[in-house]
Amino acid sequence: MDRNKNLQIVAERTQPWDIVVIGGGATGAGCALDAASRGLSVLLLEQHDFGKGTSSRSTKLIHGGVRYLRQGNISLVREALRERSILLKNAPHVVHKQSFVIPCYSYWQKAFYGLGMKIYDLLASRHNIGASHIISREETLRHLPSLKQQNLRGGVLYYDGQFDDTRLLIDILRTANMRGAVVLNYARVISLTKDAEGKICGLGFEDGETGQKFSVYANCVINATGAFCDPVRRMSDASAESIVTFAQGIHLVFDRKFLPSDAALMIPKTSDGRVLFCIPWHDHLLVGTTDTAVNKAEIEPGALESEIDFIIETAGVYLASKPTRSDILSVFAGIRPLIKSTSNTKTSSISRGHDLFVDASGLITITGGKWTTYRRMAEDAVDRAVEVSGLELRRSITDDLPIAGDDADATDDGEQLHPDLPYTREDIVKAIREEMARTVEDVLARRTRALFLNARAAIEISPQVAGIMAEELGRDQNWIDNEIATFKNLASSYSRPSRNS
Ligand SMILES: Cc1cc2nc3c(=O)[nH]c(=O)nc-3n(C[C@H](O)[C@H](O)[C@H](O)COP(=O)(O)OP(=O)(O)OC[C@H]3O[C@@H](n4cnc5c(N)ncnc54)[C@H](O)[C@@H]3O)c2cc1C
Repeated sequence: MDRNKNLQIVAERTQPWDIVVIGGGATGAGCALDAASRGLSVLLLEQHDFGKGTSSRSTKLIHGGVRYLRQGNISLVREALRERSILLKNAPHVVHKQSFVIPCYSYWQKAFYGLGMKIYDLLASRHNIGASHIISREETLRHLPSLKQQNLRGGVLYYDGQFDDTRLLIDILRTANMRGAVVLNYARVISLTKDAEGKICGLGFEDGETGQKFSVYANCVINATGAFCDPVRRMSDASAESIVTFAQGIHLVFDRKFLPSDAALMIPKTSDGRVLFCIPWHDHLLVGTTDTAVNKAEIEPGALESEIDFIIETAGVYLASKPTRSDILSVFAGIRPLIKSTSNTKTSSISRGHDLFVDASGLITITGGKWTTYRRMAEDAVDRAVEVSGLELRRSITDDLPIAGDDADATDDGEQLHPDLPYTREDIVKAIREEMARTVEDVLARRTRALFLNARAAIEISPQVAGIMAEELGRDQNWIDNEIATFKNLASSYSRPSRNS
């Protein structure tokens, strides 16, 4: 992917694009790939960097959702389990099977969760990736040696998918790019253009690097801006009521020593009735998440002190060695868009997980859902785009389309930039040359996961990364200084925890 080349293609094009997608998260990237692989011309515009929104801040699970099973949301669980098997097949370099253990502290829990996970297996049907089973106390401790042992009666072992969200995102975009989609980061959509009949026929966007404004024509526009979808809908209809409300979730990252096992720990019911995961991720331990109602969507949301306390306390109930605030290596927050109400503009409810809205001008909005179901969401959105704009009907082929990419964990060439992070100079150069990384944050937060794994270590290598980027992109000392200062300022909120430390 080459930003300069892509921008030039956009600047030179006078023909309308079949589809322009707004938003470079999982949903938008999925739409770009779906449309391009059907042979449609497609442009994707992301205001910040790809994945800057919710799609870099997930729990990193490709799953049916045990939580949704408990809520009785069978159709969503079934759909997500099918998508799980499609992702394991199409992106095996970045999505893998993960074992989970639910620890049980009574015989009743063993029977209850054992049965629940059997239902999960049944819902997966032929897409099941391994049968769940009840395990003894000894086996539970063999899988999770650092689990608190008092009153432990055994556990339930089951399997789900795990991944690296922004690595998959970049690979989806690369695959779309290889199939002719033109993708641009730092391209904020600022207006929608309508024809004499009030139908959307294009849009305006601003190049975040130069401030230059561009206008493009489009047969159809898909608004895939997740939690940010309402402001875009209001570019089309100033009086449009909001369709989403927001819930924040945070994660903490610790040293792997707190759960030194291949299996993940699943806590099925926290004190506030939620599910909490402790998952091995890139040789660290990822713990989350929370569910806190917030009244606005921010592009860089901050974790609340109460959320940090809640995760530390809950993990401490189950882990023999309790993590404390000073053990936190990184804390990150994400905003989940939740569908608010059914308004008149809603044309269909594709599943209980996500919704499609088409307004009077033909603007298609797709929001809600999960990372796991991004492909299905994209298929639904592009189907609707084809219908609304009268494009030639071609079936989606993404359920059988391999996603290009390398196993990022397998590259251990070169010298590590920091002893606590697995990344080398080669990783940084690749992010710049092939993956459209434009800032130190892009490299350290979303091409590598340094910021999410260990914020202090990421801060320490930021001058080196800025230097490599300046060489590659032809930037001056002023740019380097600005980049380091901006990154340090951002990263301080990821390494912030200090109530008791
Ligand atoms: C805490 C948490 C944990 C989660 N864990 C999981 C999990 O483990 N598994 C799972 O399947 N799902 C999970 N999810 C859900 C999943 O992360 C989301 O469903 C998914 O990432 C949403 O992707 P999206 O593309 O719709 O939105 P986003 O990723 O937010 O993308 C929208 C993009 O639109 C861009 N944008 C906004 N306005 C404009 C504009 N004017 N012009 C151009 N671009 C614009 C934004 O910058 C943003 O990048 C989790 C969600 C949260 C909050």
